[in-house]
Amino acid sequence: MIKDESRLIFISKDHRKIKEVKISRWKLILSISTFLIVFLVVGKFGLDMIVNSSLNSEMKRLLRTNMMLQNRLQEMSHKIKTLNGQIAKIATEDDQLRTVMGLPKLDSDTRQVGIGGSDYNYKFLDQVSGFEAKVDLSKQLRTISQLEREIKLEKQSYQSLLQTFYKKQDSLKYLPALRPVLRGVVSSPFGMRFHPIYKVMRFHEGVDFSTHRGTPVYATADGIVKFTGYNGGYGKMIILNHKYGFETRYGHLSKIVVRRGQFVKRGEKIGEVGNTGLSTAPHLHYEVLFRGKHLNPAHYFFDDQILNQQVVAKVN
Ligand SMILES: [Zn+2]
Repeated sequence: MIKDESRLIFISKDHRKIKEVKISRWKLILSISTFLIVFLVVGKFGLDMIVNSSLNSEMKRLLRTNMMLQNRLQEMSHKIKTLNGQIAKIATEDDQLRTVMGLPKLDSDTRQVGIGGSDYNYKFLDQVSGFEAKVDLSKQLRTISQLEREIKLEKQSYQSLLQTFYKKQDSLKYLPALRPVLRGVVSSPFGMRFHPIYKVMRFHEGVDFSTHRGTPVYATADGIVKFTGYNGGYGKMIILNHKYGFETRYGHLSKIVVRRGQFVKRGEKIGEVGNTGLSTAPHLHYEVLFRGKHLNPAHYFFDDQILNQQVVAKVN
């Protein structure tokens, strides 16, 4: 019989002691295998525990983050709703301003363009995030891009409003908008009338203000003096040329204090009331023309004495 036996020999450091252990080969293999199996099982179990606990804490952290994100998204959705309401208000005010400024309203088509686009990417995001049920992320992002567009639109609209305003501000300076004399009643209005001297029906191309001789006469808008001097029935007369096609005429004056070609401001004194030309008593004959056509001057001044006085006081 072959002795299936191995020997383990232990030798002390100083070589004095020697210990010999006899062990059969299959016993050695068995014990090494047992040791390896136990080592692997325990190792795997331990490793699993470590991995699981770290995964668990990561899961918990992600869950917390997710909850927080959902809450933030809900807050955001409330804020977006508020913003939406505010922009709707701005849009309404914008429409009103545009109407006042004589600009067309922004039609709803212009406001709606671009809404609903680029849906695909947002839907994809929803699927990845898993937020779909609680927070409609795609809807929020759509609303945000809509708000972005509306804000851009409003910005453009305000710019055009501002430009229009500046343009009008300039043209308003040249629009006859003052009572040429602060006192005195309108003794003869614009239109058909029985002429006091000719004793026939004649079209009265201006309005007459009955007032004392020497009452100051003011330019009703910014402009250039086009004519001064004696002119038939008008007597001593001033013609002012304003920008944008307006012209004003002042007749029957006793005194003229401006020269031809001079620039005058609205409210600046240009002469004094008199009784020159075809006139029976001191009064101012005042005409407003637009592109050569006579307009009713009554439509081009306010009968508000305080307002008129303020305009005159600013210049003189
Ligand atoms: Zn008249």
